[in-house]
Amino acid sequence: MRVCFDSVGGGANPNEDWVGGSPALAVVLDGLSTAGLSTGCRHGVPWFVAHLGGHLMATLADPSVTLADGLASALERVAAIHPECDLANPGTPSATVAVLRQRYGVLDYLVLADSPVVFEGTSGDHTVITDLRVDEVLPELRAEVERHETHTSGHREALQRLVLAQRQVRNTPEGYWVAGTNPEAARHCITGSVKIGDVRSAAVMSDGVSRLVTEYRTATWEHVFSTLRDYGPSGLIATVRKTEATDPTGKRWPRYKSGDDATVAYCRW
Ligand SMILES: [Zn+2]
Repeated sequence: MRVCFDSVGGGANPNEDWVGGSPALAVVLDGLSTAGLSTGCRHGVPWFVAHLGGHLMATLADPSVTLADGLASALERVAAIHPECDLANPGTPSATVAVLRQRYGVLDYLVLADSPVVFEGTSGDHTVITDLRVDEVLPELRAEVERHETHTSGHREALQRLVLAQRQVRNTPEGYWVAGTNPEAARHCITGSVKIGDVRSAAVMSDGVSRLVTEYRTATWEHVFSTLRDYGPSGLIATVRKTEATDPTGKRWPRYKSGDDATVAYCRW
């Protein structure tokens, strides 16, 4: 597998996405927004995703370990390196997870929350693996955020109310699952396998990139893969930024930030 990737922060704050690749693995993590609220961790979200990503690359290096088991043990390992932090805080640093691994003749995938893995089939068809449970909870609070333009105090306050409410249902059976400190989350991933021979290429990405198709609707998956083929991950992220620049305050496309952190790993054989 040949993996190339890029990850670009969406604003002045540190990038809270993380990406890693090897000849057998592509991993993308998207750290959840804290909206400026406390997390109980003195290290912060960029630290969390960097350590979770590094441990995932290690636990998944053994092809006999399933992706879900590897994620569970990576979560335990990261929790063990900062026991001095309040890991029971409902706002503890957390991330979405998207993994693609080549193992013998198959590709295993794992998705937890809304960072998708997208396959381009040999006949040019596209299959999107994503977990949108987060979009199904708290619809009123989400709608309230979307009523405000970004960079307004109304937007900031509505986003804080949403994040506080999300923290109450995060990693509970009534809510949605993300990778935080509880290894139980690994039991709630979407996982599966496809044959390498059925796939021409694949892209593992944060929602900062997939929104080009799902939210902005200015591109199809076919466009996304042709941009990746011709201009690579950096070219695709540049397209996202160019699109967002036409709507800097979220009037046309209401959103949580003017530009979200954007990450994509492009995998070919
Ligand atoms: Zn910490």
